[in-house]
Amino acid sequence: MFIKIMKKECTIYKKLKDKNVQCLACSHRCLISKGRTGICGVRQNIGGKLYLLVYGKVMAKYIDPIEKKPLYHFLPGTYAYSIGTVGCNFRCSFCQNYDISQFKEFYGKVLGEKITPKQIVNEAIKNKCKSIAYTYNEPTIFAEFAHDTAKLAKQKNLKNILVTNGYMTKECLDYISPYIDAMNIDLKSFNDKFYLKICKARLKPVLETIKLAHKKKIWIEITTLIIPGENDSKEELEQIARFIASVDKNIPWHISRFFPAYKMLNKPITPIEKLKQAEKIGKKYLKYVYIGNV
Ligand code: SF4
Repeated sequence: MFIKIMKKECTIYKKLKDKNVQCLACSHRCLISKGRTGICGVRQNIGGKLYLLVYGKVMAKYIDPIEKKPLYHFLPGTYAYSIGTVGCNFRCSFCQNYDISQFKEFYGKVLGEKITPKQIVNEAIKNKCKSIAYTYNEPTIFAEFAHDTAKLAKQKNLKNILVTNGYMTKECLDYISPYIDAMNIDLKSFNDKFYLKICKARLKPVLETIKLAHKKKIWIEITTLIIPGENDSKEELEQIARFIASVDKNIPWHISRFFPAYKMLNKPITPIEKLKQAEKIGKKYLKYVYIGNV
């Protein structure tokens, strides 16, 4: 079947003088001149308008148990129709999906299978999924595609899930949140230097997203990948657990085991004892703490 899918003009951006634009989807707030793309590589200034290059173009689609997102307290035992595109606004040196997130390094151009929001919703229903998850890469960068899909999905009584690094702006969360039921948000560290050095981003916007999503009554669960020697000190784990508890002690915290990947091949796999120590710390402050990826 032939499906015509055009590049879609973005919603979350503003036009500036001399045909420059500013993207407002994530906290990088990229200033983009004519012909250029932002840091994520999928939002391009064409003739003074910002376009989403991955609208209707998925690089990964699978039917996953919802626990894999991970979400343990939201529609347990159900399946989520899961999609992702290429691109990311982070540069995490330990990324597990680095070939799609850092696609320029691997493919040099935007790739993906064409699919419309309506087709995604129909596929989810056909496969008896209860939800659609925007995942694998960072959904903030394809917010308009996720928004249109989630809106249709909601009309069909499907739930919508964002699996995100939390770097979205308030404008982006305001735009998409009416259709979002649950989020798994990564809190990768409690140290701004970690975010700067390893992810090429900052900590504060992530904390703001967690607080705002909770305020909007979206169900949230938090994930921290514990990397030996990088974010696993007792002090830092305490800081993370205390922060989550300050938002709501009922928020589940997933402590995930690190395996060497991409550019971080020089670190060992997280020892089980370290995960257990993190779990013990978490349980001082939080009701639900889970060790994952073991
Ligand atoms: S989504 Fe973020 S990284 Fe991508 S263009 Fe917009 S502000 Fe830049």
